[in-house]
Amino acid sequence: EKGEDVIATLARSFNGMANALQSQIKELADLSEVQQRFVSDVSHELRTPLTTIRLAGDVLYDQRAGFAPATARTAELLHTQVERFELLLGDLLEISRYDAGSVQVEAEPTNLVHLAEDAIDSMRSLAESKGSELHLVAPGGHLNADVDPRRIRRILHNLIGNAIEHGEGKPVVVAVDSNANAVALSVRDYGLGMSKTDVEHVFDRFWRADPSRQRTIGGTGLGLAISLEDATVHGGVLEVWSGEGQGSSFRLTLPRRAGEPFTDSPIPLPP
Ligand code: ADP
Repeated sequence: EKGEDVIATLARSFNGMANALQSQIKELADLSEVQQRFVSDVSHELRTPLTTIRLAGDVLYDQRAGFAPATARTAELLHTQVERFELLLGDLLEISRYDAGSVQVEAEPTNLVHLAEDAIDSMRSLAESKGSELHLVAPGGHLNADVDPRRIRRILHNLIGNAIEHGEGKPVVVAVDSNANAVALSVRDYGLGMSKTDVEHVFDRFWRADPSRQRTIGGTGLGLAISLEDATVHGGVLEVWSGEGQGSSFRLTLPRRAGEPFTDSPIPLPP
């Protein structure tokens, strides 16, 4: 019983720490170089203790069946919060790398149709859990671009994940397209959409619309900020169209690969 009290206290203080840290970092994130370096240093420093907490937390989590119900719930809370913290820290480290200009793009010829198919496959179970269907609209065969597939896949995961989370169970359409100058990946949902003001802030770091929605939808508020960096470092553009109650459409446009056959399909303008 003593041990279980300790676990409960540990989980509570960890929860408080995660919340406090998230709001502190939020205030620092947009600021000067010194502060950016501070965020980067703090993030690096937190990695080791967090790993230790994670390992200890995993042990408790795995044994939770043997605990009293309240303690078992606390072990679960600890587990969720550690996961949330790890996500936040990973995103912060990535933003720091971009701020420091130390991101290297490992570009290679990549079939965007395959990439979109893979992204859809890996998001399918999330879509099913929300009751929405994922559709792909793409030219037959291949459509290559010189990109870092890891980063473009991450953009697609973010966009598709957001489309599902805010999509109200309606279908989500992923489109691959090209014209003479560019190739494009688009993700369209028919869910809640966003107001004009929301749209202006959607790529801001830590920005999230309507706080009351956020309790059910996890995330760091850094996903689109990182996606925008990922797009820009490729010489690409990431744009959004949205309206309240009309769903949202995000489009990533990337430079065309020299010598790539022309699929002659116009890049669709979102409605
Ligand atoms: P996160 O998803 O972690 O909150 P993001 O940077 O991916 O962070 O998104 C920021 C915010 O933009 C979301 O919290 C949400 O309010 C809004 N948003 C993003 N995508 C959509 C979408 N498809 N429909 C409605 N709102 C969206």
